[in-house]
Amino acid sequence: MHYFDNAATTKICQPALDTWVKTNEKYYYNTASIHDGGKEASRLLETARRQLSSMLGVPTYECVFTSGATEGNNLVIKSMLTKKEVSGSTVLVSQFEHPSVIDTLKTFTNYNIKYIRATEQGHIDLDHLKELMSDDVVFVTVMAVNNIIGTIQPIAGIASIVSQYPKVYFHVDATQAIGKVNINYEGVDALSISSHKFYGPKGIGAVLFKQKNILRPLLHGGGHEGGLRSGTVNLPSVAAMVRALRETLESMDNVQQRLEGYKLKINDAFSQHPSIQFQPSDVPHVINMSFIGVKGEVIVNILSEKNVAVSTTSACHSNHAKPNETLLAIGTEQIAIDGSVRISMGMHNTETDVDALIDAINYALREVSEVLQ
Ligand code: PLP
Repeated sequence: MHYFDNAATTKICQPALDTWVKTNEKYYYNTASIHDGGKEASRLLETARRQLSSMLGVPTYECVFTSGATEGNNLVIKSMLTKKEVSGSTVLVSQFEHPSVIDTLKTFTNYNIKYIRATEQGHIDLDHLKELMSDDVVFVTVMAVNNIIGTIQPIAGIASIVSQYPKVYFHVDATQAIGKVNINYEGVDALSISSHKFYGPKGIGAVLFKQKNILRPLLHGGGHEGGLRSGTVNLPSVAAMVRALRETLESMDNVQQRLEGYKLKINDAFSQHPSIQFQPSDVPHVINMSFIGVKGEVIVNILSEKNVAVSTTSACHSNHAKPNETLLAIGTEQIAIDGSVRISMGMHNTETDVDALIDAINYALREVSEVLQ
């Protein structure tokens, strides 16, 4: 299969898979056990934790392992908003967060949730953020890279604005940024990450956070992870995630440069087509394009016949017909939203995949030519 759905999930890379198998074989012990095997496993866990924070450029941050970014986002948001002393305050969020942020926030009806506007180019409007800031704001959450169109958010600019308000806790969902874009997380209080987006195993992630005694466990039990996340620690996946991160970061510049070339080739092939519209994107690996007059699902299905995998707006949206918040927020016309398709590339893609994609899109365009507008 020619796989172009890497923003939904990536194929685990070989070094991470090898690490996962080896850790299962050699360090299958419970990290909480006090026998020698448990102690060895626990040492490996702590080394992995330090390596992760250091590779992400936040060496002084604490780290708690989670099952992924959905849990990480829930952990940070619920910890913050269940604090009685801030109940009723204001929370600021971009209009295009992942449902694990937006839908979690919406469960807190006792807060004044305000949405920071997006520009047509797909970025947070910093002037609007400044207007919304006040002493009543306690929590700001913004993703680092948008999962639908691949725009990079001005994290340093947001950090500089919110730093003038000491009460504010600033959370970043960095799921789509890790291993793809270098972002300076200085001034960010907590980051959520997810291993399967950067060629690690699924079902593992982390929250990296400044110790401010904010986090409260979602899961209670044996008190693992310093009491923040009970349940036997998934050490093989932690070790494999850290290995995947090293692999991804080491190859990042080369991979992104190669993908930039592929992106240009895809753009060149279709940018003059009267029924195709490209959405703004800052990263080489995400292209969001609309087929005007056709439903995105129709194109996805036709490409699938040609063994090419892309997605409609995002995997999370594909199975239930929710409007796409990102495309709405940047002012995309409804007809372009309906016809939008996301092509997300990764380190395993080759020129052959790109040629197959271009051929398949040309085939799809012929198939739907009568309804295209
Ligand atoms: N946040 C963003 C921006 C995402 O793109 C995703 C997954 O698509 C998630 C959170 C959820 O990640 P996970 O699958 O690790 O729960």
